[in-house]
Amino acid sequence: MTALKTNSKLADKLCKVLGKEAVLDSIEDIYAYTHDNNCEQVKEESQIIVVLPSTIEEVQKIVKLCYENEVPIVARGAGTNHVGGCVAKQGGVIIHFSRMNKILEVSRENLNMKVQAGVTVGEIQKVAQQYGLFYPPDPSNLKVSTIGGALALSSGGPRGLKYGTAKDYVLNLKVVLADGELITTGSDCPKNVVGYNLTQLFVGSEGTLGIIVEATLKLIPKPQKSKILLAYFDSIEAATRAVNKILESGITPSVVDLLDKFTLKTIEEFIPTGLKTEKESMLFIEVDGSAKDVENQEKFIIELLNNADIQQIENIEQEEAFWTARRASFGATSRLKGNVITEDVVVPRTKIPALVEGIKKINEKYSLTACIMGHAGDGNIHPNYALNFEDKDEMTRFYKAKDELFELALSLGGTVSGEHGVGSEKAQYLEQAIGKRAYSISKQIKYIFDAKNIMNPQKLFIVK
Ligand SMILES: Cc1cc2nc3c(=O)[nH]c(=O)nc-3n(C[C@H](O)[C@H](O)[C@H](O)COP(=O)(O)OP(=O)(O)OC[C@H]3O[C@@H](n4cnc5c(N)ncnc54)[C@H](O)[C@@H]3O)c2cc1C
Repeated sequence: MTALKTNSKLADKLCKVLGKEAVLDSIEDIYAYTHDNNCEQVKEESQIIVVLPSTIEEVQKIVKLCYENEVPIVARGAGTNHVGGCVAKQGGVIIHFSRMNKILEVSRENLNMKVQAGVTVGEIQKVAQQYGLFYPPDPSNLKVSTIGGALALSSGGPRGLKYGTAKDYVLNLKVVLADGELITTGSDCPKNVVGYNLTQLFVGSEGTLGIIVEATLKLIPKPQKSKILLAYFDSIEAATRAVNKILESGITPSVVDLLDKFTLKTIEEFIPTGLKTEKESMLFIEVDGSAKDVENQEKFIIELLNNADIQQIENIEQEEAFWTARRASFGATSRLKGNVITEDVVVPRTKIPALVEGIKKINEKYSLTACIMGHAGDGNIHPNYALNFEDKDEMTRFYKAKDELFELALSLGGTVSGEHGVGSEKAQYLEQAIGKRAYSISKQIKYIFDAKNIMNPQKLFIVK
């Protein structure tokens, strides 16, 4: 990385606006900002400056300077996305939100919370809970994931089945546009049908249309109680049938995650928790509601899944241990070969067995190892590939397998991402995934907001 350069003229201008300590331009300081979670990197010769604004006005000044100088702008939260989303591939100014990390207001009466872009999802959940309220979206890395990043990707997580994803809990946004102007996208009211839904346009736009600086989030009353149960099956098909059986019965659990045998084994070796590693698949089920509801739902599901081996949880400590194990699938996989790439595809729920079978065949063809798990209730499957980034041959095989994985998901009526987004990693598949006309309209929308193509360029779709 020694060839990373900095645009010193622009750095000087930014220092004047923000003060020297809020501008990072030495190679040592900016190195940490050159990767995302999949280790997507900037080109060595790129010019990068990292800025740490503390206010909306400072963000506006940064963006205006970049607009005048036609310099790319990349917003960055915790840098944990899997799709190269926050990597400034063409160089440019990276706006890091670590200093804009305050919860501005919580209203129990209005069931909402106003936050700056750099607050973590974990902190939002913690503070909501102190008010007896609930912010359900829960990406597994919620302790570090920022709300700016989570909204820009419309992150989900295990509770998506019952509660939806980030897009379902945002009422209003403050966004700095490409020319530095600040807009409000909606209103803080619980209902609002005035004009186009710009809020939802920015959610999931991956920093390509504007910079989210503040959000008003919708909260709901906290369910009184939740409880998990683990159901083991002899096949993926049996587990998928069980998911449908539960949903058809009228019960919507808050979580129904699927883990295959290899995932169970890999996690158990990483964090011994007592998972039954001899089983072919497991459903990690959580039910919630009033204490009585939870008891009834648990009893009903146990009776319904009479072909499953049910592992009941003894106490809250054991429940927390199993949650930690469930969230550790990524870390556990990384121990197998040193590196891990998480993929993310989604299919209609009934197609999960065909998808998992297809993934296994592809992996066999290319001699790859993957822990297959995901949010079965949503049809959202994540093969976590254990890789060694230094092994060029393995990486070539991985990229071929990835092409076939996306073809497979599309052929099953699914798509190339359920929650991780498109970034640069999946940009080449977007036209095929959404169709020619929708793709062309999307490019026009991009042009309306960002005619100079400075907002996170070459992400989502390639603009020539
Ligand atoms: C271990 C692990 C587990 C995960 N589990 C889940 C999961 O269960 N469910 C799930 O959905 N995802 C999951 N993820 C991925 C998840 O989507 C992201 O990690 C997270 O939500 C991104 O937040 P971030 O702060 O790291 O954003 P970054 O990675 O920094 O940025 C993500 C994207 O958002 C843009 N962006 C960031 N801030 C702003 C802003 N203020 N305005 C405009 N654009 C912005 C960036 O430019 C980039 O395109 C996981 C990731 C890891 C590493």
